[in-house]
Amino acid sequence: MQDTAVSNELWIRILEQVEPLVKRPHFLTWFQNTTLLMYEDGVLKVGVPNLFAKDWLEQKLNGELFSAIQMVEPRVQRLDVEVDPQLSLPDDVRRVDVNKLFASDKKPRKLPGRQEVKLVEGVSSKCLNPKYRLDKFIIGPSNRLAHAACMAVSQSPGALYNPLFIYGGVGLGKTHLLQAIGNEIISYNPEKVVVYITSERFTNEIVEAIGKRNSKSFKDRYRKVDCLIIDDVQFLANKDRTQEEFFHTFNELYDNNKQIVISSDRPPKELNQLEDRLVSRFEMGMIVDVQFPDYETRLAILHAKCREHEVLIHPEVLEFIALNVHDSVRELEGVLVQAIAQAQLEHSTPTVRSVAKILKKLGRTQDIHGFDSQNLSGNRNMKTSMDVIELVAQHYKLAPEDLLSESRKRQVIIPRQVAMYLTRNELGLSYEQIGEDFGGKNHTTVLHSCEKMEDLLKRDKILLRDVHAVKKEMGL
Ligand code: ADP
Ligand code: MG
Repeated sequence: MQDTAVSNELWIRILEQVEPLVKRPHFLTWFQNTTLLMYEDGVLKVGVPNLFAKDWLEQKLNGELFSAIQMVEPRVQRLDVEVDPQLSLPDDVRRVDVNKLFASDKKPRKLPGRQEVKLVEGVSSKCLNPKYRLDKFIIGPSNRLAHAACMAVSQSPGALYNPLFIYGGVGLGKTHLLQAIGNEIISYNPEKVVVYITSERFTNEIVEAIGKRNSKSFKDRYRKVDCLIIDDVQFLANKDRTQEEFFHTFNELYDNNKQIVISSDRPPKELNQLEDRLVSRFEMGMIVDVQFPDYETRLAILHAKCREHEVLIHPEVLEFIALNVHDSVRELEGVLVQAIAQAQLEHSTPTVRSVAKILKKLGRTQDIHGFDSQNLSGNRNMKTSMDVIELVAQHYKLAPEDLLSESRKRQVIIPRQVAMYLTRNELGLSYEQIGEDFGGKNHTTVLHSCEKMEDLLKRDKILLRDVHAVKKEMGL
């Protein structure tokens, strides 16, 4: 296996080529947390966190991915995709965070007056992500105070709340707020030097500096900073030497009225494995928390994300997501992105049913509100031709529209006939009605299809199996 840094560099270059070739939600969903496992003898082996992503990369996005690979490394002859469940774990350093890599939206927005993020040379390779802005942060009772503190700090860094300490659970917007402060400060004062760094990376830099016996230059570089933002400070636990360096950096900046912003998963007094003197520094300024947003805020976040993704989704579907996802905003966003990706694949729009399926996949069968989850496994409430069409299309991996089309392709004709047959036999609709529901077809076409199905089912075992499978899905 190659060195991770080297192989991921190649992988990142490939991802840069893939990104414009595939739809954005697909890109963000299926390339997230992937890595390059190996590149040897013309074989490129890519690691993905789950089977779902493997299927996508191998089947749906294979062409785009391979073209991108060819653009970057024409000597690649074969692509292997391997599931590596380790990649689902947040602390797996090999995985590439595509959200951070390709932060800017489809059309990179250059805001007037906004400068490139200024980073102290060599201190941090982590840039501020321009998508994190305070005006993109949806405010509700759970985060109003944190947001207000961030506004104040970005308008008068070093003057009001120093340090600003934000704490709260995973995926509740801490990184968003921290990076937004950085972006905001730079947009007001382009000459300011802002450093955003995670505490893990900060630790690595210190370890490196110590290794190279170069801690002086490390110190000197941090001295030039106007605003130091340290994310997830809880990871400094038990790292004594790093804590010591941080303590000195903190004091130096603080004494010079430079802004310090810190985030953590818990309040300072619960950071037991941090030195007391550091904790007491954290307590000198403003401490605010972010909590999980209430239903209304969740819904507002979903609406905002739809606008960001430039998609229109039925309000009922958004309400359904808001009602059912209560762990983190990240998950809320994740479910929405998956729903969009899946719907785009099927050339349809997300429905309550399709979202319920996604929730089920995430293991949320017990508590799906606003939807009879029985409907997912059996006893489906099949009422209209469209219900049947949707299921049959799904079974044959077609778009529902294909079944309504005039296409004479065999791979469409048979599923269309299966759908008509089931609609007739299981829902008991008239041939005329079915013809109308299937894109305005003549009732004799429907009659003919049903008769043909009955005939075929007597001898075609594969067809019989398919029909049984769909019936089972229908809860029959
Ligand atoms: P944390 O750092 O607390 O784990 P993040 O800042 O990474 O969480 O947030 C996870 C995702 O949720 C990000 O994409 C972020 O933009 C989004 N997010 C969280 N809270 C909000 C909010 N109030 N409004 C808009 N987006 C939010
Ligand atoms: Mg974070």
